[in-house]
Amino acid sequence: MYSPQWLSPGNRCNSKERINNTNGSQLRLYQTWKGRNRFFLGGRFVFGPDIRALFLTLFLILVPVALFCAFVSRGLVDAFPHRLGYLIVAISLIFSALIVILLLLTSATDPGIVPRNAHPPDADDECETSSISTSCLGSQTGPVSLPPMKNVTVNGIVVKVKYCKTCMLYRPPRCSHCSICDNCIERFDHHCPWVGQCIGKRNYRYFFMFVSTTNLLSLYVFVFCWVNIKKIMEAHHCNIWRALVKSPASGILIMYTFVVSWFLGGLTAFHLYLIITNQTTYENYRYRYERKMNPFNLGCARNFKDIFCTGMASSRINFRAKVNADRSSSFNASSYLGGGTTTNSSDTHKMKNFDIEVGRRQADDIDECKETDSRTRSSVGGVGADRCEG
Ligand SMILES: [Zn+2]
Ligand SMILES: [Zn+2]
Repeated sequence: MYSPQWLSPGNRCNSKERINNTNGSQLRLYQTWKGRNRFFLGGRFVFGPDIRALFLTLFLILVPVALFCAFVSRGLVDAFPHRLGYLIVAISLIFSALIVILLLLTSATDPGIVPRNAHPPDADDECETSSISTSCLGSQTGPVSLPPMKNVTVNGIVVKVKYCKTCMLYRPPRCSHCSICDNCIERFDHHCPWVGQCIGKRNYRYFFMFVSTTNLLSLYVFVFCWVNIKKIMEAHHCNIWRALVKSPASGILIMYTFVVSWFLGGLTAFHLYLIITNQTTYENYRYRYERKMNPFNLGCARNFKDIFCTGMASSRINFRAKVNADRSSSFNASSYLGGGTTTNSSDTHKMKNFDIEVGRRQADDIDECKETDSRTRSSVGGVGADRCEG
């Protein structure tokens, strides 16, 4: 049954460490992970497949800030009394530090990966169970006959959920499989090429704060570059063009931040709209396309609270958990979940009907793996319990 998962092209963990560990009996879970994530510091940081995007984004943010500090700040320090110019520069540096932290939180966090199953769910259970609000819409041909879709009721509205052949599970609500990361992601928003990571349930808040804060920094630099130009015009009694010649960095930054602010401003406004209507980017596209109602919309205030005022859900996966080398598979992720799955109340309400059935199936899997810890078992139930729209 054991297959060398670490030979999979999708697995990018440290090969030297992996070879050393192969002689032993146990590996860390991240070393056997089937998705295309890249892991650092022993699985503590979970990045997307393309980490170079992160450096490009950092370059596009930090180089203009460096230009601002090196060439524009001098004029501001001279122009403003009582060291106010220093404060202006210090604020830009504080903004930059905050943005770097938010970028890392977005990019290095598990976005809400749903652990894969090692085996498909029991087809009979899926079709015959009446404990959940589902109905089989069809059947596949082949050795395992599972309905490719089901109907699930969310807040009184029927939505279709799809079976993920890669992860061998019915996707949790609002979940989608990212083809770039090769994982099912809870509350999948989109895969962001600028941060090189999926944006999902666990990092959406950071992503929005990153975008909006970067937009504020861009506007800040834009405004103070203009202030610098105006101060030069007043000091030298010249027109704007001569002032721009005297401070070309201000001119370049004005043009750069003007373009960036339109892009980031639009993105911030769009995500504000998504937040207050409780949609993801993916759902916005699909609902509008299919002219469907949004079953997750709880009203503006509650939608906003859902994103910003609820506790961060724990990762469903403990990537540092030890797994047996001869049984290493991503399924074992579901047997080594991170400390408790804290879903918010609305999620719990939506999913409680589904916990019953799949909890039982997953518990059987745990028995097979000799995992008897009750906390883990209930968490695993939570994983398999989720169903999603397609
Ligand atoms: Zn999947
Ligand atoms: Zn992705």
